[in-house]
Formats: sequence, C-alpha cells, structure tokens
Amino acid sequence: MSKFLSDKYSNLSPYVPGEQPKERKYIKLNTNESPFPPSKKAVKYSAAAAKRLMLYPDPDQRELTAAVAKNLGVKIENVLLTNGSDEILNFAFMAYCDKDTPAIFPDITYGFYKVFAEINNVSYKEIPLKEDLTLDINDYIGQKGTVFIANPNAPTGIPIPLSDIEKLLNSDRERVVVIDEAYVDFGGESAVSLIEKYDNLLVTQTFSKSRSMAGARLGFGVAGKEIISDLNAVKYSTNPYNVNRTTAAAGLGAIEDKKYFEKNCKAIIETREWASVELENLGFTLTPSKTNFIFAKTDLIGGAELYKKLKEKGVLVRHFTNPIISDYNRITVGSRVEMQTLITTIKEILEEQK
Ligand code: PMP
Repeated sequence: MSKFLSDKYSNLSPYVPGEQPKERKYIKLNTNESPFPPSKKAVKYSAAAAKRLMLYPDPDQRELTAAVAKNLGVKIENVLLTNGSDEILNFAFMAYCDKDTPAIFPDITYGFYKVFAEINNVSYKEIPLKEDLTLDINDYIGQKGTVFIANPNAPTGIPIPLSDIEKLLNSDRERVVVIDEAYVDFGGESAVSLIEKYDNLLVTQTFSKSRSMAGARLGFGVAGKEIISDLNAVKYSTNPYNVNRTTAAAGLGAIEDKKYFEKNCKAIIETREWASVELENLGFTLTPSKTNFIFAKTDLIGGAELYKKLKEKGVLVRHFTNPIISDYNRITVGSRVEMQTLITTIKEILEEQK
C-alpha cells in the first residue's frame, strides 16, 4: 500500500478470485466457468464487431438490451446490461445501501457482497444459514436494510422457492430485495416473473456461466423501470460505456443461439447428477445443488487436504477456509471427461489414505 492511499480504503480486504494458475495445465473445476466454448454465433458476431473497435459502443446497448428483454418476456425499460453481474451488484450497493440502510445477506454466500459493502462504506449484517446450510426466509423478515440473496446460493448451490422470495418482498415493500441469479439456468426458479408485481425487486443474471462467456464480462439487472432508472444514473455516473462492443455482439449471438444454450445447460445438469451419484458412492455428502457446481464433503479426508491432494494431481477445485464450510470443496461441473478424471483421482487419493 502506498502512503498516498486514501484512509477510506486503508482497511479494504479485496475479493479473492479463484486461482488462475499458469505454471501447469490443470483440470479447472474451481471458478464455475463453462467447459463448453461460447456459441459459434457469439464468436462470429464478436469478430465482426472487432472491426469497428475504433468507435465507442452504444452506451444504451439498445440492440442487446432489446434481445435480452425479449428473451425474458419483459420490456426494454426493465433491463440494464453491465460489465459482468458483479457490476450490477455493485451498482445496487451504491444505489440502495448506506450507513442507515445496511446490506443484509447470509453469512455463507457470494464473498463479493461483503467487499461491495466495504468499498461503498456501507454497513452490513450477515444472517447465519441453518446448520444444514439452508436459508430460512423468516430470518430476513423484519430486518431493516437491503437484502441480497443468491438464488441458488453460492457456494452451497441450494435454491430457495419463489414463494419464499415473494414472502420476503411482501413483508416490507419499502425496501429493496436483490436476487442474484448467477446460477439460475441450471435448475433454479427465476424471480424475473415477479418484477411486474414488486417494484422493490431487482434480479441479476450473468452470461458468465450458462452462456460460456465469463471472459467477455456481461451481466444484467431486471427490475421495474424506476429501479432500472436509478441504476442507469449510477452507470452514467461511473462508466457509460461499461459493456464493450465485442462483448455486446457476442451476447447477441449467445441469445440468438438458444438451442446451444439449452443443450449446454442440459449437459451440465446431467453431468452434475451423474458426478453427484459417483461422489455419494465414494462416501461424500452433498448439498442439493441446482447450479453448475457440487458442494461436497466426506469424513474420509478433510476439505483442505482433499483440495491440496487434488491440486498435486492436476485437478483444481475451490476450498474455503471459513470454519463453517471448511470440510467442503466446491467442484465446478466440467465436461463428462473432466468429471470422470475427478472421480478417478479422488478414488486414488482415498486409496492412498488407507
Ligand atoms: N453472483 C454469484 C453468486 C457468483 O458466484 C458470481 C461469479 N463469481 C457472480 C455473481 C458474478 O459473476 P459475473 O461477474 O461473472 O457475472
């Protein structure tokens, strides 16, 4: 840290992304990326757009916004595109939280929420999950502040039903509820259908996972037009050109290629279910994940130890040191071949333990 850094940032503890090692080739099951390449249409549109990179992109991203809105069955005024869904989440912290309006989120959830709260100088309250890592919506009712819930949650993968979200929205219509649906396409239930009815709801989604575009950085928010207008004001006060030309073009291709999207989601779900049974047969306990990752633990080997041994053998998964979940590893659902290697490698490790 330099001597010049403002005091307001002296205590920052930045988000730590999953490892992206360069020193050797790993089977990468640690950052919830898709094992499949982006749609060919996305690549083609993006390459064509690259020829016009001397021009700024459309700051309103009208074409892609219209396509995303149509795909979701909402109006163009209900959608705001951002640089990954991280950006729309940050906008929501900026717009709807402050010292008197804390952010409220589970104690085990996406680690960035805490970082967004800290950089925006917002107070926050973490609500413990239940012992089985499920979320009790009643714990959020009667709490003052803006609620952030990942549905399905991360890194547990556990979804909550829409009826819970509706209960929460109804319990206090004077506060904003943000539902982070980064993983919703792998079997969750989207709250987008509720935005007409509740003007205090913001739903966020991403192209990073189910549309194989983590490297492009494209996400969006869906909400009533007043919330979208607030978030647009934040966007135009920070970075009007937040979505670049090649990314927007790729996004359009990805939306148009619905078949490819559906095929990949189906493959991930099938592989998740297959790998889950294999892991259970090896003695693992799993949370009921509806995402593109599995959250698993076993009494046969500690979480940190398994992470380390897998890494030595060329398979990267994600381990979190928080004691509540330190027995677990979060394993991204890769291709069938990658998951087969994972299972074989775990078998080897368990054998070596004997
Ligand atoms: N929400 C959750 C729960 C996530 O796990 C992630 C990915 N790390 C994000 C949001 C942000 O994803 P992106 O910025 O790539 O859209």
